Amino acid sequence: MEVGLRVVRGPDWMWGDQDGGEGNVGTVVHLGGDGNVPDDTVLVYWDTGKQANYRAGYSGKYDLRVFDSAQTGLKHIHVTCDGCKEVPLIGTRWKCADCQNYDLCSTCFVSDVHDKHHAFLRIEQPQGNGIPVGKRTNFVKRQSKGFFPGAKVSRGRDWKWAEQDGGNGRIGTLSEITAWNGVDRSGAKIVWGMLRNNTYRAGHQGSVDLKCTTPANGPSYYRECLAKVGEKRQRAANRLKIGERVSVCLEAEVLKAMSQGHGGWIDSMAQCVGKIGKISKIDDDGDVQISYGLQSWVFHPDVVTKMPSFQSGDQVRVFNDKQLVQNLQQGHGGWNESMEVALGKQALEDMSGGEATSRRGETTPESPAKELHDLLQALLMGAVLKGGSAGDPGDRLVNASSSGNLQDVREILEANPDKIDHKRAGKTALHVACHQGRAEIAKYLTSKGRQQRHQGRTGLFCNASRSLW
Ligand SMILES: [Zn+2]
Ligand SMILES: [Zn+2]
Repeated sequence: MEVGLRVVRGPDWMWGDQDGGEGNVGTVVHLGGDGNVPDDTVLVYWDTGKQANYRAGYSGKYDLRVFDSAQTGLKHIHVTCDGCKEVPLIGTRWKCADCQNYDLCSTCFVSDVHDKHHAFLRIEQPQGNGIPVGKRTNFVKRQSKGFFPGAKVSRGRDWKWAEQDGGNGRIGTLSEITAWNGVDRSGAKIVWGMLRNNTYRAGHQGSVDLKCTTPANGPSYYRECLAKVGEKRQRAANRLKIGERVSVCLEAEVLKAMSQGHGGWIDSMAQCVGKIGKISKIDDDGDVQISYGLQSWVFHPDVVTKMPSFQSGDQVRVFNDKQLVQNLQQGHGGWNESMEVALGKQALEDMSGGEATSRRGETTPESPAKELHDLLQALLMGAVLKGGSAGDPGDRLVNASSSGNLQDVREILEANPDKIDHKRAGKTALHVACHQGRAEIAKYLTSKGRQQRHQGRTGLFCNASRSLW
C-alpha cells in the first residue's frame, strides 16, 4: 500500500456521499501508522475536493478499493499488455487464468478486451501473486468519475504554482491525463484559458494540485474485481484459522503461478488439489500450511477454500468431475465405479455458470465450492454401512436401501413416512442409495421426498434430491 493509489469506495463504505457519489475517484495522500493517523487507515483526497480518513483493514473493514496504481510508480517491467501492446505494463496487471501467458492492463481489462468468459488473476506487485477475480461476465460495470478529460477543475490540496491558473477560483478544463516526472497517469494537462495551459500533479505519489468542480466520466470498472485497500495484510488472518478443514481447488498451473514467493511449488503438490486437509500453520505473511495426512505444503491464502460443516437444510449439488471425486475419495472410503451414478445427471446443468469460477478459487460463502464439498462429505465419504436390520424402522430403511431391496424400502417408508431422512451412521437412505449405486431406490426416495416437500416438508433430503435428479 502506497501513497498515490487512486481509489473508489469499497465494500464497507458507510460515509454517504463524502466521495461525491459511488464511482468518484480519490487519491491516497497519507498512510496511517505515524502517530497522527491510526494504523490500517489512510487519508484520501477525493477528486471532488473533500478529504477524510478511511479504514484500510482497520477493525477488519475496507472502505476503499484500488482503482488505479500507476500513480504510485508501479510497473511490470518485462510484461506486455496483449491488448494495447503497452510495455512495460503500468499499474495493475490482469493475467488470464485460462490462457498461457496472456496479460492485460487495467484499461484493456475494463474495455473487455479478450474473452469475457475467461477467468483472470489480478497482480498488484511485480513479484506478487495473482488473486483470482473470476470472469468478467459475472459482474456489472460501474461508471468512474473524476480527473478525466473534460473535467472542470480549480486549485486543489497541494497547489504550489502561484497565480499560474490566473487567480484562485479560476476554472480550467482537463484535456489529457499524462505522466508527471516519469510516473504514468499521475499528471493532468489543464487549459486555463486561451493562452495558458500546464501540467499538474493529479495523484503523483500522493500529491494532488487540483480538484474537480465538475468531474468527468472515466472508464467503467468492475468493482468486485478491484483490490480492497489494505486487504493484503489482514486477509488470511481474518478468514482462516489453524485446525480448520480446507481444500485447494485450482488447476495446478494456476497454483504454481501463485506459489512463487509463497512457499514455492513442486509438482507433487498437485496431488493435493481437491483433497481436504487441515491448516497446521499460518505464517506472518499469511501463507497457509496445510497438512494432508503425513505430508504438508504451504499455499497462498487466496487459493485456500474453507470446508463448512454440513447442516440439515443446506442446498447441495453433485459435481460432475470424476477425477476430482476420486481424488477426494482417497483415504475416505475409496472410490468404486458404482458411485458414478451419483455424479452428473441433470443437476450439473445449473452449475455451468458458477462451477468454473468456484474451481478458480472463489472463496465467498456463496461459492458453489461449498455446495460441492458439503455434498461430497455427506454423500460419498465413509465406509459401506454394515449391521443388523432389527429395531428402529429408520435404521431398517437405511439398511434396505444399502442392500438394494426396493420392496423393503417401499414397505418401510409407507408405514413410516417420517423416516425418510432418518440417519444411520450419519447417512440417510438416499445417501446410501447413491453411494451404493442403487439408482431405482434413489429415484423412488426422491419421488417420495418430492411428495413430502409438496406437503410442506423442508430440509436436507428435499434439497439433495432436487439437485440429484
Ligand atoms: Zn492494454
Ligand atoms: Zn484467456
